[in-house]
Amino acid sequence: MLLNVYNRYNVIFEKGKGTYIYDNEGNEYLDFVSGISVNCLGHASPVITKALIEQSQKLVHISNLYYSQPQLDLAKKLTDNSEMERVFFTNSGTEAIELALKIARKYGNNLSCDENGNKITDKTEIIYMKDSFHGRSTGALAVTGQPKYQKPFKPLMKNVTECNFNDVQDLKAKVSEKTAAIILEPIQGESGLESATPEFIGTIKELSEKYDTLVIFDEIQCGMGRTGKLFAYENFDLVPDVITIAKSLGGGVPIGACLTKGKANDVLVPGDHGSTYGGNPLVCAVANAVLHELIDNKLVEKNVVEKGQYSVKKLEKLKEKFDFIEEIRGKGLLLGIKFDDKKILAKDIVLKALENGLLLVGAGNNVVRFFPPFNVANEEIDKAVCILEKVLGILL
Ligand SMILES: *Cc1c(COP(=O)(O)O)cnc(C)c1O
Repeated sequence: MLLNVYNRYNVIFEKGKGTYIYDNEGNEYLDFVSGISVNCLGHASPVITKALIEQSQKLVHISNLYYSQPQLDLAKKLTDNSEMERVFFTNSGTEAIELALKIARKYGNNLSCDENGNKITDKTEIIYMKDSFHGRSTGALAVTGQPKYQKPFKPLMKNVTECNFNDVQDLKAKVSEKTAAIILEPIQGESGLESATPEFIGTIKELSEKYDTLVIFDEIQCGMGRTGKLFAYENFDLVPDVITIAKSLGGGVPIGACLTKGKANDVLVPGDHGSTYGGNPLVCAVANAVLHELIDNKLVEKNVVEKGQYSVKKLEKLKEKFDFIEEIRGKGLLLGIKFDDKKILAKDIVLKALENGLLLVGAGNNVVRFFPPFNVANEEIDKAVCILEKVLGILL
């Protein structure tokens, strides 16, 4: 029945509560995938249920021809808690990326013309990183530096250039007056949780100022609290011109956003972009409730930071036991366990963990992500690490 584009695990999930999830045969699992960095409040969160019920009794959808209070409140919350100034809401991360790319192209096109509107140069190139992931639409795919995803769908969007992640020399060689934007995940999610180095970020800052180039941070996976800061850029010495977010923003309802500041604010004008569903009252009401937990109830500042440190401590102990664990990487609860892929494969660990009641997801060949919800308890972390230890023992 379903289009065959996923190698799904042979399990049908029925319900969940907090960090636990249950299949249709009643088996219990600890969920350390969180719907791939989405369910930040865990399953069946009363906060989300309440917002869904209350808002669905008022308004579910009105289109973007009109204002709604939940959308205005959410835009205010996001801009009040960051250096960003404008927000456009989408239904997914990929759609937020598409908008960021359109802003980049138009920004460059505007700067490519003289005051009479005659084209004098072509400043529309977009630089992206090797091993990045920005989504599966044709635009997002064009800046996703992974041949296995791109190859079957060529030709993709033109005038994009790949740069090696964290390679300062390569970046210097590639960015020029022709560059409209540089797009990157400050911490690469799908390919193994590698973080941009301070030197690389410093060079991006320097070159983007020199060449009047927009900097786009894709925080779809690493943003909205998972690193222990609301926005991932807060971990770096750079405030991007454009940020994309999604995943944890909605705690499970489909919502994304593209945020801008300064020179990126007024690039697009009425008629340049739109979305029928984007930021409808229902999803915005839920995101407001989620952000209230994350920000006002200090779930990020307290829990993510504390549980992150606790998890790292436990995982470092595991690393001492198994010499094929190379590194515990990441920030907050955006954690990855890096294995020696000559000895053990991420996908084998993930499958064995599932059979033993723990949901995990790989990143690349040799990293397993450790993504509990933000309100995870210490005992749940203990239990997950214990299952992982058992699984590694079996696979050894
Ligand atoms: C998940 C993800 C996307 C795509 O988001 P969707 O909601 O699946 O469209 C883009 N960029 C990053 C970094 C992601 O992790």
